[in-house]
Amino acid sequence: MSIILIVSVSIRALAAIWSVAVMVRLRDRRILFLTAMLVLMATRQALTLAAKISSDANLSLDFAANPDEIPGLVVTLMAFLLVLNLEGMIKGRRQVVATAQRSPGIPILPPLGIGLASILGIVTVSLVAYLISQNAIRRIVADDNLALGQTVCNVALQEEGSEGSLARSAALARIRHTWSQTSLPYAGSHLSVIGPAGTVELDTGHPDWQGKDVGNMPTSPGSDETLLELLHTQGSWSGRTFDPSGSPQLAGYHYEPAIKSLVSVRTPLKMVDDGFRTAVAPWIAGIALIGGLLLPLSLGLLFHSSRQAHTEAISSLTALQESEEKFRVLTERNPAIVLITRNNEIVYGNSMLSTITGYTASELIGLQISVLLHPEHRKLLADIQEQEPAKPHDEEMMIITKAGEHRWLEMSSQWIDFEGEPAMLVTCLDLTRRKQAEQQLRQKESQLAHVSRLSAMGEMVAGIAHEINQPLSAIANFAIASKNELKQTNCELEQPVDSWLDKINEQALACGEIILRLRNFAIKGDGIRQSTDLNQVIRDSLALLNNEIRHGSITIHLQLPDSETVVHGNPTEFQQVVVNLLRNACEAVKQEDSPEIKIHVQQHADSVQLTIEDNGPGIEEARQQHIFDAFFTTKSHGMGMGLAISKSLIEAYDGTLRHEAGGRGGAIFHVELPIGKPKSPMP
Ligand code: ADP
Repeated sequence: MSIILIVSVSIRALAAIWSVAVMVRLRDRRILFLTAMLVLMATRQALTLAAKISSDANLSLDFAANPDEIPGLVVTLMAFLLVLNLEGMIKGRRQVVATAQRSPGIPILPPLGIGLASILGIVTVSLVAYLISQNAIRRIVADDNLALGQTVCNVALQEEGSEGSLARSAALARIRHTWSQTSLPYAGSHLSVIGPAGTVELDTGHPDWQGKDVGNMPTSPGSDETLLELLHTQGSWSGRTFDPSGSPQLAGYHYEPAIKSLVSVRTPLKMVDDGFRTAVAPWIAGIALIGGLLLPLSLGLLFHSSRQAHTEAISSLTALQESEEKFRVLTERNPAIVLITRNNEIVYGNSMLSTITGYTASELIGLQISVLLHPEHRKLLADIQEQEPAKPHDEEMMIITKAGEHRWLEMSSQWIDFEGEPAMLVTCLDLTRRKQAEQQLRQKESQLAHVSRLSAMGEMVAGIAHEINQPLSAIANFAIASKNELKQTNCELEQPVDSWLDKINEQALACGEIILRLRNFAIKGDGIRQSTDLNQVIRDSLALLNNEIRHGSITIHLQLPDSETVVHGNPTEFQQVVVNLLRNACEAVKQEDSPEIKIHVQQHADSVQLTIEDNGPGIEEARQQHIFDAFFTTKSHGMGMGLAISKSLIEAYDGTLRHEAGGRGGAIFHVELPIGKPKSPMP
């Protein structure tokens, strides 16, 4: 069986298997064609081998018997080399892409520089190979010449049997004859015999050199040893030298004892070099050319595709960065909270989550979501997680911020795939303000209901006052009539009944006055504006609050101008304002050891100022801006409407009502009203 066939089939099979493995590993269709070709070739040759084995068991083992295998094998190896080349290119490309994605700033080497460097490398290697081969050939030729000279002498001189038995001239003739019979590897080679005196006795190439003295010539250029010395030492030498005419030669000298001479065979160097160039140079040039072209070509291709891949990687990276930027803008500038949890741990949270919860971004990552949730709502989260994953859920939940505040959120949660694992995407809207507003609205609704009940009561009080006034007048009148009757009858009584009747009359009238004031205060203002004495309004208001003042043992410091302080407006409305300010002051000083209220009216050129100051606890700074708001109250049964209504009433007369912190800690309220008719229209 042919060994060359088995080797050839094995190489092809190995190349085919390797290529299939490369293709499977890289999953790249570019290698597909070459792999298919290699597989086909390996199969075809295996079949041929099988056919040959079955048909002819005595196949030749000779390499020359299967010369057609050589080109096929070369093609296989070339295709296999291409597969390896492509493998390198694809791997290189992938590495470039991976590097570019990791660090996009790293530049790719320019293919031109690599191409030129590889060409230079190939040319240098080829040149070195050429010179080494040339040197080797020269050495071989020189050594061959030495051996050839010895062989020729042996053949020419051995026939006589013993040395020196032959005449010198005959010996030389025999050497010349034997030389002429020898087939020479180089046509220009010639044999030379240098006699014991150092003169040329025979030269087959140059008969004219006969008798020439060459004894002093060096064996090789630059050597100290002359030919005569070599002759005397009976040595031998081979290498590059010059002939007597100065042409470079490759020569081999040996001492021939039979004729006591140096015998040399010389070949002109040019001839050997020409032969070498003709035989070897095309191969080396071919290899250099193919290598010089193939290598830069494949390197160029590799870098071209790498650069392309790099550009693609950069652009896909840019696209990624852009989409990341969009995502960042969408989530980070979103007024809603966006967070992602996995196994109940926060794995992502936008800046709104930090803003609302008060936790920093780094504190939030890895935080258990249950830490944020109000204990009552933790179970709700567990319920959501147990429900159908594909279904989104909306729930209202309360969270506890880092500072311990409670906030209401509307949470919408959904299962998603995050970084290859199931996670929960939660979006939340802050409902706290809405919830607070709803609560306030509920409060105000109940307060409004209270107000409307009060207003209805005011109407009722006015009605009752009217009804009671009649019997009170009757009591007063009957008391006077009884007194008059007693006077006329002149009857002596043990008790001072007439003074009692006076008292009944007084009390009935006083009661009637209280009822009247109450009625005036309770009825809605009739809107009629008139010149009103503010001093009288203050006195009436104090009388109305007489009970509270007495019960509280409050000292009233009243400082009114001597003359009337006339303002233009509705007296009932003025009274409502003063009563409200005085009642607040009375309530404020209730707990004080010596409760005091100062009432001071000052007349200016174009305005009147009423100041009511108390020595109560005053109003906290944070609350001062809210006291004129409707429904703002700090009292358990307060309505929070007094100051709001008073302010709007005073402002309707182009006046002002303002608060000032008292110097001794109490509260001061200033009412300023213009004198004369106000400019604003009537309410
Ligand atoms: P209400 O008396 O029903 O609370 P007001 O509008 O009259 O409603 O008063 C609003 C709030 O202003 C009071 O609840 C109280 O906190 C504060 N206030 C008003 N006057 C005084 C005062 N003289 N001293 C201390 N606080 C006062």
